[in-house]
This record gives sequence, structure tokens and C-alpha cells, in this order.
Amino acid sequence: MGKNIVIIGGGIVGLCSAYYLEKEGHQVTVFDKSDISNGASFVNAGILTPSHIIPLASPGMIAKGIKWMFHASSPFYIKPRFDLDFLRWAWYFHRSSTKENVEKAIPAIKEVNLLSRDLFEDVKASGDLGDFQLERKGLLMLYKTDAAGEEEMEVAQKAKQLELEVQLLDKQQLDTIEPNVEIAAKGAIHYQCDGHATPTEFMPKMVKYLTQNGVSIKTNEEVLDINVSSQKINEIVTSKGAYKADEVVLAAGSWSGLLSKKLNIKLPIQAGKGYAINVQRPTGVSIPAILLEAKVAVTPMQGFTRFAGTMEFSGINTIIQKERVETIAKAAKSFYPDIEVNFEEKENAQTGMRPVSPDGLPYIGRCSTIDNLTFATGHAMMGWSLGPATGKLVSEVIDGKKTSMDITPFAPGRTF
Ligand SMILES: Cc1cc2nc3c(=O)[nH]c(=O)nc-3n(C[C@H](O)[C@H](O)[C@H](O)COP(=O)(O)OP(=O)(O)OC[C@H]3O[C@@H](n4cnc5c(N)ncnc54)[C@H](O)[C@@H]3O)c2cc1C
Repeated sequence: MGKNIVIIGGGIVGLCSAYYLEKEGHQVTVFDKSDISNGASFVNAGILTPSHIIPLASPGMIAKGIKWMFHASSPFYIKPRFDLDFLRWAWYFHRSSTKENVEKAIPAIKEVNLLSRDLFEDVKASGDLGDFQLERKGLLMLYKTDAAGEEEMEVAQKAKQLELEVQLLDKQQLDTIEPNVEIAAKGAIHYQCDGHATPTEFMPKMVKYLTQNGVSIKTNEEVLDINVSSQKINEIVTSKGAYKADEVVLAAGSWSGLLSKKLNIKLPIQAGKGYAINVQRPTGVSIPAILLEAKVAVTPMQGFTRFAGTMEFSGINTIIQKERVETIAKAAKSFYPDIEVNFEEKENAQTGMRPVSPDGLPYIGRCSTIDNLTFATGHAMMGWSLGPATGKLVSEVIDGKKTSMDITPFAPGRTF
């Protein structure tokens, strides 16, 4: 008989966990304090990222962070503040930013990304969600300067060694594969291994599928407290009532650290705020790209082109800093001279918060102190890509099955 499972959080990770758990015959309830129409899982760049083999916590990032700290329009911004959780996280981030840790993380990042890319394809092939955009055109890393190109080529070399499909393109080759838009770049590295989808299409379709298949999705209902006795969660208290569960999945994105505190668990997570602007006119962009010097992602989605960027560590908030929106719009124009983001598109910019762990790896697995709690969070810049793999792994963990891959690197209780 199936178990009664509560999932806290209805972002891509929570919904994908519900998807695989329901298929295993469990009775699943998802709580979300929002109406599941916004936030990171809706505003992301939609890129499926096997190319992102290097975790954010890598040598040189701290120096870059300090350099950019005082520029409100920089792509990576840390708001200086005295906040113990943040300072602890920053210390762990610093400790994780070593060559050795990066080398250790790469195989796990690659494996979970490829697993998830395959699972996205399975979801599409199953017809469960009806048709949705899922393309494999790759990702162009566009560069204007030799320095940026050379830095990325080092990553490309590593990716090639890992047998990911990568190609170096000069300007002429770039113009040939992207003929309908002028690109002001010297060249590109084309990670053909990557794909993309439209979050604002996929998420509502997933909600609809789950609802039609017996998953109870409780929106606008916040989990306020979690009661534990004898190492087991015995009650979830929400803004509307109290519930029992055999198993609980914590998939609350950037809020997961705060909820963990209620359980006396320290789960280092910081919100990395990002911005997205949708250009609702034909732009000619047909292949997703990252504008390397500006750190802006560009994705041709269903009916619009999205420009997304910025990693802003300023706590949990969705405040829109206009200068950052302006910087993204300027980067778009600088790399695609014919694309002018207009006033209205800038005014409609949205933000979302990436749940960032200190070492660039997600937390997936059972809690070591509470028997019926499983973590599924901390995916940072790869949460969209890793939704299906995380959901599948969560269902395997809860069912006590052999997991599709070794999840030891994602252990929630790991030390930094
Ligand atoms: C601008 C931007 C671009 C990005 N681009 C990409 C990309 O191209 N590719 C990629 O792979 N990833 C990308 N990401 C990252 C990705 O979007 C995130 O990692 C992912 O969406 C996180 O999903 P999640 O389900 O863990 O969290 P969320 O989507 O944040 O969902 C968590 C949910 O939990 C709910 N919640 C929180 N607390 C409670 C509570 N107490 N009670 C009830 N509900 C609660 C929240 O309301 C929220 O809906 C991007 C992110 C941003 C911001």
C-alpha cells in the first residue's frame, strides 16, 4: 500500500517529486505558500545544463565576488551584512572553492544532469503532460574578448574529456548556425549537450497532470511548523490546519534553511536572486546562449525570448533593483545589436531566488536525525535542469530502492 507523503514546496523540485511518488502509488499532498505561478521555477532561463560542470564555488569566485561587491549593477553581488547564517554559509563557500572540491564535484554534476535530461525526454515521450517545448539545440557561450573565450575553453576541454558534445565556433560558423539575428561576438563555444524548455509552459502542465492524477496540491497554504517526536515528524502545521504524514519531503527552495531550523537542523542555504526579462516579439534568436562577459542567459521560449541573469546574495527578498534590469537589457543590446528591450518589457521584469548550497551540489537524501524526512533542495543554478532527476531520486529513496545514481555527494548532512 502507498504511503501518505507530504511535500513542502511546489517548485520544479517538489512537483517532480510528486510526479514520481504518485507513479509509485503513494498518496501525495503538496503544500505551497504561493499560488504556484511565480518564483525561481517560473522565471529561470529554462536551460538544461550538462555543460555547467563547474560548481559556483570554484577557485577565483571569492575574489570576483569581492571585486563586484561594491557595484550594484554587477552580475554577481553580495550585499554586505551581519547575518550569522550568511556568514557561516560564506565561510563554507570559501572552504569549498578549491580545485580539489571542484574536481570531486564534476562527475556527480555531470551524471545527475544527464540523468535529468533523459528523464525530461521520458516525461515528454510519456505524453503525461501533453506536448511541451523540449529542445536539444545546445548552448552557445558567446564571447567578445579573448580572455573570456580562453577561460571558457578550459571548461570546454574538461567537458570534452567527459565526453560531452562541444564544438568551438568562429564568427563565421556562429553566423551560419544562428542566421536570423546579428551577433556581436568574436566566437562561441557550443555545448551541443544542452537543451531547453519553457518553465511557464511546463509548470502549469505538470500541476494539471498531478491534480488529475490524484495528487492534492494545496496552494496559498504555508507550512508554519513541523512537530517531531521520537525522531519522526508526526505533524505538519500549516496556515490552514494540521496534517499527519508517513513521509515528508522538504523541497522549499530558498526557504528550506528556515524550515530546517524549526527541526533544529542546520542546512546551509542562501537565496541567489536572479532576474528575467521577456521580449515578446520575434528576435531571431533560435539557440540558447550565455553572454559570457555579462553572465546573461538568453533563451528562445514558447512565444518569447527570455534574458535572465544576476546572482544577488541579499537575503530572502524579491525586490527588483532597476539598475540590474537595465544591465541585463544593455547586455542584450551589446551582444545582439538589433534587439532593444523596451520600457514595458523592463517594467515587467521578474525575480526568483535560487536555493544555493555552499559547494554547488544539491541536498538530496534522507535526514540523518529524523527518520521520515527527505531533503530535495539546494540546486542553485541547475534546479530547473535537475527537477526530474531529483524527483526520481527522492521516490527511490522513500521506497528504499537502489538509486539511479550514487547520491552520496548530495548527502544533506555533509560537512563543508
Ligand atoms: C533568473 C534565474 C535563471 C535560472 N536559470 C536556470 C537555468 O537556465 N537552468 C536551470 O537548471 N536552473 C536555472 N535556475 C535555477 C532554478 O530556477 C532553481 O534552482 C529552481 O527553480 C529551484 O526549484 P525549487 O523547486 O527547489 O525551488 P522554488 O522554485 O523556489 O520552489 C520552492 C517553493 O516552496 C514554497 N515554499 C517555501 N516555503 C514554504 C512554506 N513554509 N510552506 C509552503 N511552501 C513553501 C515556495 O513558495 C516555492 O514555490 C535559474 C534561476 C533564476 C532565478
